[in-house]
Amino acid sequence: MVLDKNNTDELWDLEPPSVPERSHLFHLKPIGMGTANVESLTSYIARLAQAHCITVGRLVCAEIAPSLKEGYVFNPKNSDMSKVYNSIFTKSLNGKCSTAAVIVQVLEKLTQRNDLHFLTMLSWADVISEKYLLHPQKAWCPFCYQEWFEAKQVVYEPLIWALHVVQICPRHHCRLHTQCPHCYKKLPLLPGNYRSGYCSKCQSWLGLFPEPETFKNSQFLSEEELELQLKVLDNVGELLAIAPDILFYPPSNNIKNVISVYINQLTKGDLSEFAKLLGLSPHSLNKWYRGKAIPGLNKLLEICFYLQTPLVDFLMATKVSAASNDIPIQPQTPVKRSTQTFRSNPSLLEEVEKVLLAALEESPPRSLYKVVKDLKNITRSSISRYFPNLCCQISERYAASRKPNHQKIRPVLLSVVNNGEYPPPSVAVIAKRIGIRSKTLYKEFPDLCEKISEQYSCYIKLRQLERIEKIKQEVRQAVLKLHNKGIKPHSRYVSELLSKPGLMRDKNAIAALHEVRCELGYE
Ligand SMILES: [Zn+2]
Ligand SMILES: [Zn+2]
Repeated sequence: MVLDKNNTDELWDLEPPSVPERSHLFHLKPIGMGTANVESLTSYIARLAQAHCITVGRLVCAEIAPSLKEGYVFNPKNSDMSKVYNSIFTKSLNGKCSTAAVIVQVLEKLTQRNDLHFLTMLSWADVISEKYLLHPQKAWCPFCYQEWFEAKQVVYEPLIWALHVVQICPRHHCRLHTQCPHCYKKLPLLPGNYRSGYCSKCQSWLGLFPEPETFKNSQFLSEEELELQLKVLDNVGELLAIAPDILFYPPSNNIKNVISVYINQLTKGDLSEFAKLLGLSPHSLNKWYRGKAIPGLNKLLEICFYLQTPLVDFLMATKVSAASNDIPIQPQTPVKRSTQTFRSNPSLLEEVEKVLLAALEESPPRSLYKVVKDLKNITRSSISRYFPNLCCQISERYAASRKPNHQKIRPVLLSVVNNGEYPPPSVAVIAKRIGIRSKTLYKEFPDLCEKISEQYSCYIKLRQLERIEKIKQEVRQAVLKLHNKGIKPHSRYVSELLSKPGLMRDKNAIAALHEVRCELGYE
């Protein structure tokens, strides 16, 4: 076929190109994801603010706070900085508390990312206690700051620096600093005027300037201390690195199961003997054993060092082995959960894909949350990482199904406006009748809602006027009654004659009394 060069219109693709949804804030990529040096959430928030050329305070107050539920942590209407930056809020942000979870959720929505979860300890929320999890203040390595600065790399704060058990820098093996060397102040984690690598109190650079040798040496640890810290770094680093790849967030009963297996095998079920062996408090051990509490990261590491088990294996209950003893350990309860990843288990990948594809055909559509919930505790973030498009389609389909049906709702609203229902209902009442939120109704049908709202407020005003008139009449009758009997209409006597005892306190009643008393010549 010979193409007519003057008439190629039919070959043009007139379909508008599909443009992916835009994020409200920059889709900033976190540093070191999937490694032991992954950045912390507070560091990410600071870099996000920097990328937008605004302060952290502005970002939190203007972007994050309005997306939070009102009354949660702080009230956005009253965005008082001191309240926003109260110690509880920023201290625990890199940890596992509900505030961290909420902020992650809000930031993921604003940046359209699905991996900000891993900048906190939320993946391990059910197996590591919050106690002593994080340093109460900012801790940093001045050598790292200086190196990044000189190499023109991004200056950031790794999550590992925030953990209380970590006392040294994983790269330089020097003690982490917790006090500004210029103003000697301890520094908050995420102040409103935060600048990466600078003191928020005196604005000095926190990287290392040439220091005297003596000072440098005092920063390093004894061999024994160093050996222990290196073990801590290995175990904790693995925990942070593996978090994006695990399919199941370990449940709290993992701790109970693993401890009970070890107690049975090492001390034949003798709890106090086991506590003595590991130098633990029998009271705490009993709580963990009965599943009433979970250990802190420091205690977990002590146990793991004694049992010579990697911390990840202990928390995920994968390998239950007692290398420090020659007793073969047979778990009492089969431990099903494991540190398998999608990469190590391709059949699971296929299985999940099938479920997601099936969810796209379902009617009525289910939300992504519900679909993921039925996937036997596989984390939403793992699924979104491997199937971003399918997840997006499921969410969009669900959102579309939740959109109000204009063809059905409009006639209902029109009939309320035109047929003069009496008493006229408020928008909230109609929303309840239809079964959607009044906020949605206002958003979708602003004109009709305005009319309905107008009718309703007219009715309310009328009712108010009627009420005032009724009060006036009642007071007038009472005053006249007293006057006719020859009694001076004092408000106390009038009050006794009214239908409600407190009515004489109403300003309209007082005005009416004053008016009639004037008419009768009492005033
Ligand atoms: Zn360092
Ligand atoms: Zn300072």
